[in-house]
Amino acid sequence: MIHGEKESSFYQTIDKNGRRVEGAFMQCVHCQRMWEYKTGSGRIRGYCYKHKGLICGQPDCIAEQKRLTGNTVDCVTVEQQNDLIRAYVMRHGYLPGDKSGIKYEVTADGKIRMVSAHLSLDNYLMTPSGIIIKK
Ligand SMILES: [Zn+2]
Ligand SMILES: [Zn+2]
Repeated sequence: MIHGEKESSFYQTIDKNGRRVEGAFMQCVHCQRMWEYKTGSGRIRGYCYKHKGLICGQPDCIAEQKRLTGNTVDCVTVEQQNDLIRAYVMRHGYLPGDKSGIKYEVTADGKIRMVSAHLSLDNYLMTPSGIIIKK
């Protein structure tokens, strides 16, 4: 059992010698990556005091936090990141950093949905052969 920190999920299985094997998967509060918890594996993972959860410490996870916050001491979780994207879409009608001109909207239950009706006239046109291209 892991002290002080909750496992994300448990599994029980029978190994090839008929012994019951128990394990746990942990999940990174930043990128949601899962990994198997092994006692004494020596793998060093991090803990985020701001989000009170384990972090995977993978280079791409750390790099993404740096990109999102602009520094190395802050962090945002996937949920917070989704909230930021939702807020952006509500304000601008586009996905952050998306230059395609495709419009998006936030549904009542918080999903981001493409507004395909806006595709037709403003930014796109149909060629005589029926192919839709960007103007
Ligand atoms: Zn991570
Ligand atoms: Zn954090």
